[in-house]
Formats: sequence, structure tokens, C-alpha cells
Amino acid sequence: MQTATHQCVKNCPICDNLGSPLRRKLKIYVRAFDGIVASEFSVCAACDFAFMVNPFDDETMADYYRKNDQIRRDEMSAEEELHTSNQVRFLSENMGDRNIETMLEVGADNGAFLKIAQKKLGIRCYFDELNEVACSILSANGFLDANKMDAKDRRFDVIVVRHVLEHIVFPAHYLEELKKRMSPGGLVFVEVPDCTSIDMNETDTFCLEHVNYFSLASMCRLMNRAGYSIVAYESSRTEGYGTTSNRVLRILMEANPHSKNTCDQGSDAWDNLLNKALKYYDAIDSLFLKNKGKRTAFYGAGTHTLMFLANTSVGLPPVIYDKDPKKIGTELHGSKIVDAETITDSDADILIVMVTSYKKEVRAFLEQKGISKEKTYFLTQMA
Ligand SMILES: [Zn+2]
Repeated sequence: MQTATHQCVKNCPICDNLGSPLRRKLKIYVRAFDGIVASEFSVCAACDFAFMVNPFDDETMADYYRKNDQIRRDEMSAEEELHTSNQVRFLSENMGDRNIETMLEVGADNGAFLKIAQKKLGIRCYFDELNEVACSILSANGFLDANKMDAKDRRFDVIVVRHVLEHIVFPAHYLEELKKRMSPGGLVFVEVPDCTSIDMNETDTFCLEHVNYFSLASMCRLMNRAGYSIVAYESSRTEGYGTTSNRVLRILMEANPHSKNTCDQGSDAWDNLLNKALKYYDAIDSLFLKNKGKRTAFYGAGTHTLMFLANTSVGLPPVIYDKDPKKIGTELHGSKIVDAETITDSDADILIVMVTSYKKEVRAFLEQKGISKEKTYFLTQMA
């Protein structure tokens, strides 16, 4: 009899950080190998994700699934029909106005999903299934074997991976590879056991077959890593459903060509985001420096003016127009706050609008007051 061999996954398969090990091992006697398998798990706190540290290697995994063949039934139970109908409903509600003509299910099993999807969506359904018994059931039901297609046709508008990702040791790589089978603008529909709220007693616990334990947060990190963005998600459970009566997480995702393909955005990206908040005030400073001697004024004594005051090396303009009766007539660090109703075109050479909401209304107001457009600058157009 063959013995089981394992691989070692010390770092989080989503973000590559070192995980922290869980205290106990999950032991089970495996008949196929006539031995006890002791699975160990780690948690990545950053990803809110648990993963198996010592999954079977590829050869043992294939051997295990071959020898643990489940009995397959052609007919659906009422619970399976309800659960599967909900999956199809989720997909059809969220695929928008995309032109969906073909669907591939990976591991299509007895075809429960494809049957309902084909009936409801009226699309061509393909399967990619390793089990020979399942393949003959699927073919008998009129579904097409994706592995018997011409290579040039092997792209699909929707790829369905229900209860697959929790079995895959490196799910990011798996999702990346899936893109090669997707039509441009195509979708991937994923369902996995939902570990988002594990204290609710509605969550599948650890088992030998599951190497990954996803929460919504870890799914989002995984999508980011694999170059996808989320289209829709839902958490759902079906009492009495054979695969699991606990919560499942459904995700509809699309390939995102702009994804940086990494979980860690790097501190430069965060620096740039902060810089984005401050660059307008830098731009006003440069404008004022370039126009030394000209008369300047602000419209709006709100947050942006206060932030400018805190960041400027040049200083506030002498006059700030505002409509707030509580502010009119007061001073802000030596600048006068003046009723905006009294503004005239000859008051200033440069007027900067320091409000970012109601832009259309402000523009109309200034136009009505006869302020020339050439001297008016809007904050968000400054940088
Ligand atoms: Zn991680």
C-alpha cells in the first residue's frame, strides 16, 4: 500500500506572510493509506484566513481522491435543488448586461448546477470533470466536454468553481491560470464554505479535504493577489443541504487588468494616497508665489481652507468669501471672512473656490455675480 506524502506550506498562500500555527492537530485514519494523517493548520491574521500547513503532495492528493470516490446519484434532492437554484439566481442577478453565451463548470459532478443554469439562462454548458462516471452522466444529460473541444474555442463567458477553491493548495495561482480559459470580460463564480463569522455556529469546521478556510476578507485579498475584482457576493445557507448545511460564501468576480497582482501595495502607494490629499494646497502655494503682488481671495472658509492654513508656507489670502452667517464678519488668522453676496469682479485678481461639493451651484453663483472665469480656480482642478 502506498504511503501518504505531504508538502509544507509555512507561509500564507495568499500574502506569503508567516502564519501562526493552531494548537491542535486534526487526526484521521485514512483507509487508502492504512495510516493516521495528522493535519496541521496555521492562521494568517492579516488575511483572516486559515490554511493547512502539511497538505498532501499532488500525487498523494490525486491518489486520495481516486480512492475516496463518492457514490454519485443522477437525481437531485429537494435541498440540493433549492441550494443550486439559489446559486443560479445569484449569478443571473449579478451578471448585468454582459453577453453570456457559454459556461464552464470545473468539477461539474452530477451536473445539478449546469441543469438549472441551462434551463434558466439558456446558455451552452460545458464541463471539466476528472471522474469518469460523472463524465458519462454529464454527457448523457447533453452537456459538452470542455476537454474535447478545439483549443481555439476553449474560452468561456462564465467559469463556475463551486466548492473547489477550499481544496486547492495555491488558490491564487489557480485563479490566475483560470484567466486563460476566460473570454474577455468573462466572469468567475465561486462558492466556498463561509468562515466570515465563525462564532455563529453556522460554519463548517476543519476537515482533511479542506486545505483553505476563507472569510470574505481573505477572499478579497485572494482576488487582489490573483488579479480579479469583486462583482458581487452573498452569504447563504440551506438547511439540510448535503454538501453543507452551514454558511457558504458566493463570489462573482471578473479579471481586473489594473490589479497590481500583489496583496502588499507597498508604502509608496500609501504615501501617494496621502500626497493626493495634500497636493492641492501645495499647488495653491505655487500659484500664489508665481503671482506675488496680485490680489488673492478664497471662496469658502470650510475644511479645505483650514487644511490650507495648516499646510501653507505662503499664508491665507486677505479675504475669504463665505455664505455662512456664523462665519461672516469674523476673522481667520488675520483674513477677513466676508459675505459672499457682496463679491464683485473687481475685488481680486485670483479667486480660488475652496469647496468641493455643490461645484455646479457655486459656478452658477459666481457667474451670476459677474466674476470672470479666467480668474476663478476650483480647488480640485489645481493639481
Ligand atoms: Zn495572508
